Amino acid sequence: MGTIPEQKPHAVMVPYPAQGHVNPMMKLAKILYSKGFHITFVNTEFNHKRLLRSRGPHALDGLPDFHYETIPDGLPPSDADATQHVPSLCHSTSTTCFDPFMKLLGRLQSSASGDHVPPVTCVVSDGIMTFSLRAANALGIPSVLFWTASACGFVGYAQYRSLVDQGLVPLKDESCLTNGFLETKVDWIPGIDNLRLRDIPSFIRTTDPDDIMLNFFIGQLKAAHEATMIIINTFDLFEQNSLQYLSSIYSPPIFTVGPLPLILELTPHNHKLMSSIGSNLWKEDTHCLQWLDSQEPSSVFYVNYGSITTMAADQLAEFAWGLAGSKCQFLWVVRPDLVESRSVIFSKEFKEETEGRGLIVSWCSQEQVLNHPAVGGFLTHCGWNSTIESVRAGKPVVCWPFFAEQQTNCRYACVEWGIGMEVGPVMEGSSEKGKEMKEKALEWKRKAEAATRPGGSSYQNLEKVLDMLLKNFN
Ligand code: UDP
Repeated sequence: MGTIPEQKPHAVMVPYPAQGHVNPMMKLAKILYSKGFHITFVNTEFNHKRLLRSRGPHALDGLPDFHYETIPDGLPPSDADATQHVPSLCHSTSTTCFDPFMKLLGRLQSSASGDHVPPVTCVVSDGIMTFSLRAANALGIPSVLFWTASACGFVGYAQYRSLVDQGLVPLKDESCLTNGFLETKVDWIPGIDNLRLRDIPSFIRTTDPDDIMLNFFIGQLKAAHEATMIIINTFDLFEQNSLQYLSSIYSPPIFTVGPLPLILELTPHNHKLMSSIGSNLWKEDTHCLQWLDSQEPSSVFYVNYGSITTMAADQLAEFAWGLAGSKCQFLWVVRPDLVESRSVIFSKEFKEETEGRGLIVSWCSQEQVLNHPAVGGFLTHCGWNSTIESVRAGKPVVCWPFFAEQQTNCRYACVEWGIGMEVGPVMEGSSEKGKEMKEKALEWKRKAEAATRPGGSSYQNLEKVLDMLLKNFN
């Protein structure tokens, strides 16, 4: 990589406004910052308020050359401390954010801004915020499309157009959900032969040709062709076939730069300074880390469904009785907005049954929890960050996918990577399957570490990305 010149390069970073997108974008922002970039991190007004609430009113200022800007998300103003409705948010960001973002870019570019802000070198657009890609292209600014989910999920979404053209989607009627239709093999993707329709990201499970999510993803995936380059939070060895396929259908070069938690850890940076920049939208419980300190190694089962998933009250009760019946120690994260349209209440019987061996909190620092030696396994909804954070920690997973590309990640965890199973006694040392999964998880952890160390694929790719971005930088 060439040396970075006097005036700083400037990356404008635009995450999709949900926790699972803000986190990896923030990690990438910290990495670029450590490499000498000036950063403008663009939050929606709604999320900016939430960050201020969870981290304190001064948490977002004070770092030189790292600035926050906001744009409206297009939804009615709200002070709620909860996840927004995903289809409404996808629809509103894709139809209303282009103009405010163009204005913001114009302001940042204008020499009249007088804030010692260097000209914008690149826009890093979330894979599903491609209005920002369009804006960058309109102004002749290089654009990086950052796909924050898995490469296998990307492959799955890339089938939507073809599924519609083949007449398989939208589904003919609701019976297709239960009559075995979803078992249909997806056998037309070169190099990929392990997928069924049920493993394709779940937004195909609709009978409505105008379905917002179906059409949203078709549009976003098409727009990705316009990027200067595409980067993905994964590593080559982990998703070889998917990456090869994606490179055959997209002309922008594709670089793997993950797992980002490891890359960030290995990038020399001022830890104290960086830890002042956080991205958690909920306030973290810290007591659970002390509780884990008091537990035996590999003895605690960690349960978390991520930031967006919601479920019905009786589904939560099923989980509760599953945990009670398992007789194992558990740390269970139950967000205040997890249960649809009501607050979470646990029965007296459940509390008595699990007393002394279970801890329930509303939000935790997941990476710290996963890396804690007391945690032996992870029941996850298979969101990509949770999956890659688990790989980074070398922990096996029990998969309970809810929606989106969680289905695809689940399939790969169980069938390709061997680190997961859909249900079962992963924590029991006697279980052969459990043992195999633990070994596989440790093996992938070592491979992820090798990919992110100097000379590793993700390490080298990041250098290439920086070289490309700085090539035209004066
Ligand atoms: N997360 C966390 N604490 C929690 C729950 C989640 O820090 O209690 C973080 C987790 O580490 C991950 C993100 O929130 O980085 C969730 O992203 P993921 O892709 O796993 O799922 P999503 O929330 O998008 O469904």
